[in-house]
Amino acid sequence: MRKPIIAGNWKMNKTAAEAEALINELKPLVKKAKPEVVICVPYTDLWIAAKSVLGTNIKLGAENVAWADSGAFTGEISAAMLKEIGVEYVIIGHSERRQYFGETNESVNKRTKQALSNGLKPIVCVGETLEEREKNKTKKVLKKQVLEGFDGITDFSNIVIAYEPVWAIGTGKTATAEDANKTIGYIRSLIKKTYGAEVAKNLRIQYGGSMKPSNCKELMAMRNIDGGLIGGAALKAEDFAAIVNYKD
Ligand code: PEP
Repeated sequence: MRKPIIAGNWKMNKTAAEAEALINELKPLVKKAKPEVVICVPYTDLWIAAKSVLGTNIKLGAENVAWADSGAFTGEISAAMLKEIGVEYVIIGHSERRQYFGETNESVNKRTKQALSNGLKPIVCVGETLEEREKNKTKKVLKKQVLEGFDGITDFSNIVIAYEPVWAIGTGKTATAEDANKTIGYIRSLIKKTYGAEVAKNLRIQYGGSMKPSNCKELMAMRNIDGGLIGGAALKAEDFAAIVNYKD
């Protein structure tokens, strides 16, 4: 059985003081959650967030990680820095990073390896753009992202994949539950073919893209969907908690 994982992606939102307030609001609302609960917050919020989640069921995540150990990489944050502060998960290859900051499958691969070798759990994002979808290239794009992004990686026990159709992120448009399930099923079959049935059976694959309280139940009921990566709705304690508690 794969334990569902609901992760918030705060993106570039919330100052440290705002982060502390949001976490304090969230704590009582998610304390009985059945899924694993993660909040991925901006670097400047990590310190206060690490203190705020101590002793709770909320796990801490970052939104990126450098591929090098240390050195001349101005503006980057290393896996060791994250680990020491109490970070457990890290989002890698989010479509916004691919779109605005030159993230490629190759850099995703390097960051993922670096996260794993430092004991961080990567949430690796894949997904097609609207143009790719309309040209029927979804499978081709996903195959390339998966095969290149995980090249050389054999142990998937600490990896989570987030399938996020780019056209559904922050747009209010959600893939239908059936569509999301089918595409995630394709990713799982790809993993099975490449890395074996056991890996595919145990690997958690989230859906991300305008997931909210009103549609989470339907999405989470799907056989292949093991959780959600939540953007906008993660910024409101009530909404995020409603998604986390989708089974109640
Ligand atoms: C995301 O940023 O990963 C995301 C899914 O955003 P939203 O929920 O706002 O579409």
